[in-house]
Amino acid sequence: MKEETIIIIGAGAAGLLAAKELSSSGFKVIILEAAGYVGGRIKTTTDVSFEHLLEEGAEFVHGKLPLTLQLLKEAKISFHRTKGKMLRNTNGRWHEQHEIIEGSDRLMAKMHEYKHDVTLSTFLEENFRDAKYEPLRRSVQKFAEGFDLADIQQVSMFALRDEWEKEEGDQYRIENGYAQLTDFLAKQCIANGATIHISSVANKISWKKDEVLITTTTGEYFTASKVIVTVSLGVLSATGEKHNVLAFMPAIDNYLKAAQEIGFGSVTKIFLRFSEPFWNKDTGFILSEEAVPTWWTQLPRTDALLTGWLPSTSAVALNKLTEPELIELSMQSLANIFSLEVSFLKQRLISHKVSRWQTFPFTKGAYSYAKVQSIQARQLLNTPLENTVFFAGEGVYDGEYPGTVEAALVSGQNVADKIRALKLSALGFQL
Ligand SMILES: Cc1cc2nc3c(=O)[nH]c(=O)nc-3n(C[C@H](O)[C@H](O)[C@H](O)COP(=O)(O)OP(=O)(O)OC[C@H]3O[C@@H](n4cnc5c(N)ncnc54)[C@H](O)[C@@H]3O)c2cc1C
Repeated sequence: MKEETIIIIGAGAAGLLAAKELSSSGFKVIILEAAGYVGGRIKTTTDVSFEHLLEEGAEFVHGKLPLTLQLLKEAKISFHRTKGKMLRNTNGRWHEQHEIIEGSDRLMAKMHEYKHDVTLSTFLEENFRDAKYEPLRRSVQKFAEGFDLADIQQVSMFALRDEWEKEEGDQYRIENGYAQLTDFLAKQCIANGATIHISSVANKISWKKDEVLITTTTGEYFTASKVIVTVSLGVLSATGEKHNVLAFMPAIDNYLKAAQEIGFGSVTKIFLRFSEPFWNKDTGFILSEEAVPTWWTQLPRTDALLTGWLPSTSAVALNKLTEPELIELSMQSLANIFSLEVSFLKQRLISHKVSRWQTFPFTKGAYSYAKVQSIQARQLLNTPLENTVFFAGEGVYDGEYPGTVEAALVSGQNVADKIRALKLSALGFQL
């Protein structure tokens, strides 16, 4: 029987899992990865001026997510529960926050009264317009913008409701970095005979039924019977732009339009290492109204590292700020939160690093959120073209763990299942 070749564009969680599954089922797999490393939005880096690894991308496992945990077990990778209190600082006053959104019972009850989906802003306007609801409205908006990286004028209320309801309290971090997971998957792929070409930017996908020809920016080309495209929605939606990296021939405009009908948010992560902690030792997360609003520690690790989270939906004109200006803004935010002088913080600052995901050319943002019209868009993107061009990745995933590594992994597994089923059916077997 002739070996069938599958090309996978992107060595993130989705691409690597699809590759692992297919390469262990008799397919020849070629992965083209534009960046100089595998993992995509899982990006654990070492920097000598920091004592520990930095998670520039994904950092938390949000609850007991089945496929992630299964893979961590298979790979014998340890993980631990994050610790510490979630503290809110409002105008210099601290209180501990126990719910992700304060007043969420009333909010959820109202959300369940709806029979048809609306945007979050319409929902808030229709139900919580009165001035007395201002704190609730603000808290909901901040959470949608901060955690989901969503634009409240566009995000689906149903999607947020379903996600917030499932939100578990416990979160986990992977010891020695998330990249251990993607490194494990990459090793498995190679052991199964797959090839991974890093720094290999696919820019033209010519296709017809059961045949694809992929050309890279350096003029290399690869052929296969199918291609799985796992690039982020930021990259996929940018294909029509001048600086595009991917062109499909023949064009698939309805698919690219569908990609734009799914929200894609962005964030800047700011890492500040100090000579010693100046926060209480039980501090886990800090929420505030400052320009850089959210911070967290590494508890149960006690090193003096704070990570700042600045969503692109914030009021800060992010693209206009230089890195030193972002650090200055961060220091000012922390000084306000802790009622300290900026000079006090500066004296204790040892190193800093900024990861601006909207500027990363092979990602162009952080993760997706559902708009009201995203269900149909995701359905289309999950429908392969002529059983030849397939899409996968967290952005096209349509299950219950949106925006996460779990979403990417499940989507990689699903696409591999589809391709295996096609093969079996071509051989006359029925599943
Ligand atoms: C700052 C940040 C924090 C996050 N925090 C969490 C978290 O705590 N927990 C969580 O579960 N999730 C988190 N996420 C989301 C999570 O990282 C993603 O959902 C997941 O990693 C996406 O995997 P993927 O395979 O779908 O896409 P990607 O990881 O983006 O993989 C796609 C790959 O395609 C490559 N590519 C792009 N264009 C081309 C091209 N033309 N040719 C070849 N290759 C190309 C890219 O370089 C990339 O490696 C976070 C994301 C970010 C950015």
